[in-house]
Amino acid sequence: MRKPFICGNWKMNADRAGAVALAKATAQTAGQVGGVEVGVCPPACYLETVLAAAKGTPLVVGGQNMHTEAGGAFTGEVAGPMLKDLGCAYVILGHSERRHIFGETDEFISKKVQAAFKFGLKPILCVGEKIEQRQARETEAVVRRHVTTGLAGISNQQARQVVIAYEPVWAIGTGLTATPQQAQEVHAFIRQLLATLYDAALAQEVRIQYGGSVKPDNNFDLMSQPDIDGALVGGASLKADGFAQIITEGARAKGL
Ligand code: PEP
Repeated sequence: MRKPFICGNWKMNADRAGAVALAKATAQTAGQVGGVEVGVCPPACYLETVLAAAKGTPLVVGGQNMHTEAGGAFTGEVAGPMLKDLGCAYVILGHSERRHIFGETDEFISKKVQAAFKFGLKPILCVGEKIEQRQARETEAVVRRHVTTGLAGISNQQARQVVIAYEPVWAIGTGLTATPQQAQEVHAFIRQLLATLYDAALAQEVRIQYGGSVKPDNNFDLMSQPDIDGALVGGASLKADGFAQIITEGARAKGL
């Protein structure tokens, strides 16, 4: 069985004291809710603080982004070995805000996924269509491109470790959530695609999170879907109580 994975993406939010309080509260929830992996991805400047607060707890921590290179003249960037050195387990790559605000291409994201493995980090690869692409019935084509290029050059052994986050861009930070059926359809499509790119057994192992306005009152229905293995949560991960509810609802949906 795939272990559900619920991860908070704090984006460019929190201050030091708030980060510590939120990390401690979330770590407590992670310790109470068995069977679900719980993670947070704080801003890079608070990673060390959050990792210290998570120490000795089951809470896992990830970066929100990283550069392809191990180091060098890339002002403002964070390298994979730096994230690894701090103790990060994961790194979010290809988030729609990186793709659409900062112009990251499929090819650049593909290099980042390869670099993540090279530096000992597990990627959370975000994929998903914009509203006009959904309306033009291009959802599958866009998701196929994001997954296929994102995993180019990734071996079977590495692909098993990848977490894919299906995040329809129109649902991120908008309050509009994909219906459980809409999300399930795309998750099943991604799993089928993984079976084609790798094999059927591997496709059954890979965890696929849903992201896009996940809240305490919709995560049960979302995670009740057979191919939805967790959630990548933005805004609602910033409130400890609400995020705890999202985690307990996810566990309940999976019968844990
Ligand atoms: C995200 O940024 O990954 C996200 C899903 O944001 P929100 O939950 O706020 O829609």
